[in-house]
Amino acid sequence: MDLNELTKKVVMVSDQYEKNCNIKRDDDWYILKLQEELGELTQNYLSYTLRGRNRNLTNEELKKNISNELADILGQVLLFANHHDIDLEKSMEDKWFSYLK
Ligand SMILES: [Mg+2]
Repeated sequence: MDLNELTKKVVMVSDQYEKNCNIKRDDDWYILKLQEELGELTQNYLSYTLRGRNRNLTNEELKKNISNELADILGQVLLFANHHDIDLEKSMEDKWFSYLK
C-alpha cells in the first residue's frame, strides 16, 4: 500500500470519526490531534520501559499499545499533510532523500 492509498483510507476513517463523534476538524485540529497521539505514545513508552505505571498490562500488551500509537501518529501525519495539501512523497524526496545524492 502506498502513501496515497494509505491517505485515502485514513481520510475515510477520520471522516467517520468526525461524524460519529460530532466534532469539527478545523485547521488546527490536525496538529493538535498529532500532538495528542505523540503524548499517548510517550505515555505508553514510559510504561513499557518501566518508567510509568503499567496499568496491570503485560509486556506484550504494552508493546501492542506502542504499535497502536505509532499507527495513530502516522494516520494523523497523513491527515495533516492531506488537509494542508502537502505531498509527503515529495517532502521525503526533498528533505530526507536529498542526503542520498
Ligand atoms: Mg492514540
